[in-house]
Amino acid sequence: MADGQVGSGPMNPTSMLSLRCKSCSAPLSAAPTDDIVRCQFCGSSQKLVDARAFFDQVLLQVNAWVRQAIPVGMEAMATGMVDPIARHTIFVNNIRPRLTTEYGEYRFNCFNVLAQPMAVLPYMMERGMPLSNNPKDVFLFQAKVQQVSALAVDDESKGMISEIGALSVAYGYLLNNAALMAETKPERYHFMKENFEAAAQAVKSAKKLSGLEERFRGLAKLSKGLDDLTSLNMQEAMTQLEEAKTALQSARATAIQSLDMSLMVQGIDKELSVVRSSTYLAEALQYAPGGDYAAAMTPIRNLMGVLTSLQERPFPQWQGRFRDTSHHEEILKVVADIQKAKAGAGAISMLPVQGTVLFPFWAVDIPYTFQTGALWKTQGVEVTEAMLVSATFPADVDAFSGNEPRLVLTDIFNARERSGFFNKLAGKETSISGGGPVREVINRSQPYSPGVLRVIPPLSTPQDAVTLVQDYVTRVRQADRTIQNQLRLSAPRVISLIFVPGTPDNLRPNVLFWLGGLAPRSVGSLTMLATIAM
Ligand SMILES: [Zn+2]
Repeated sequence: MADGQVGSGPMNPTSMLSLRCKSCSAPLSAAPTDDIVRCQFCGSSQKLVDARAFFDQVLLQVNAWVRQAIPVGMEAMATGMVDPIARHTIFVNNIRPRLTTEYGEYRFNCFNVLAQPMAVLPYMMERGMPLSNNPKDVFLFQAKVQQVSALAVDDESKGMISEIGALSVAYGYLLNNAALMAETKPERYHFMKENFEAAAQAVKSAKKLSGLEERFRGLAKLSKGLDDLTSLNMQEAMTQLEEAKTALQSARATAIQSLDMSLMVQGIDKELSVVRSSTYLAEALQYAPGGDYAAAMTPIRNLMGVLTSLQERPFPQWQGRFRDTSHHEEILKVVADIQKAKAGAGAISMLPVQGTVLFPFWAVDIPYTFQTGALWKTQGVEVTEAMLVSATFPADVDAFSGNEPRLVLTDIFNARERSGFFNKLAGKETSISGGGPVREVINRSQPYSPGVLRVIPPLSTPQDAVTLVQDYVTRVRQADRTIQNQLRLSAPRVISLIFVPGTPDNLRPNVLFWLGGLAPRSVGSLTMLATIAM
């Protein structure tokens, strides 16, 4: 050993510590004959000699720390040969203060991670995890704690050592998973499962951390389920996801009753949303025509890629929402509905017209009041106009950026008939918008199975559509003084999602074209949409 320590007791490093991964510092299991070892937690391969060298380095650091912590001349006491009172004194005066300071920081950072959802959907990247510490530092800290654990003699000190040990080990594994969530390497769910299982094991006996073990077990199930899902083992995936849901619900019920642990509830709620999203994905694949899961997975994988890129666009009005797990859940629910309808096991609301590709639109009611007449004859007229908003509008950068919302919807205020001056004076205007035919389109749509037609899933939610319509109205008012003066808008509301057949060519979607000037000019990049058509 590096510093020549031999013998038994707390100062003997080999009895307490195992070989560590050079890359993530998790314990490494290797046979003495192995030349190359692969870490089961982060997947990095390393030469056994390098792992040994790293281990020696950790030991040096740990022992240097212990020597520094224990007063000169007292080292012998730390070896466990002397009486418990003397060890207790060293622990209370010299060790505990140092551990408490360092642990305080790790505990705080670990709880910040625990407040977040520790789950990510297939083919998506999650870069929002707070990575305040390097797993190496955390594992080094945990090695120090192990090294001095025999100095804790009374129950209180023992309890403290055990909680510090448990949470810091778990935190190390969570940091590994945070790194895995930020990339899409093929085996990541396998490694995430290993890390969650090890973290669950670590906190098993820490009773104060109520709900934590169960949460980690649930997350291990979810990771296993997603590993199965991406390997197209559908039956096993469904079983694992069901068990993940049960474990996470139980963890939530326990955590909410604890003052310390209740901050996990918001994270667990989002993890449950990821479980539901994953179940929608599994359902969608199960309805794959001819059981060809691999073929059905292609547009889904592309969709997840598109959702990842949308959440990274620099538009503050959308960023928070597009990063939220519930946003993905709403979209993936529709994906499952589409696949079910295609298989004839369900239906989606469609307009019965000719076309080759179904484009999704939000049908929005936009109630407003406007003032008509002049002077002593002014009156308020109430109108409920109907609009269609392309549900793939985030794929149009001009609309998504907020520059040109009108491109992706039925531009009803532009299409209005400009009432003559005398009508207005007499208070005979009936509307200041012109969306009449849009209502007919909405009324004529019916539940159908799309059969062989290709279907584009939405990239937005009803709430997104409302936000876009509000932006649109704001711009219309800025541009048109008459409307600015006359219009009082109340809250727009989405009434349904309808699919409209179009016959896209390379340039245009050719959808709703019979609406003339009212037709949305864009449904987003057709190149992008072609990759997610199901
Ligand atoms: Zn590793």
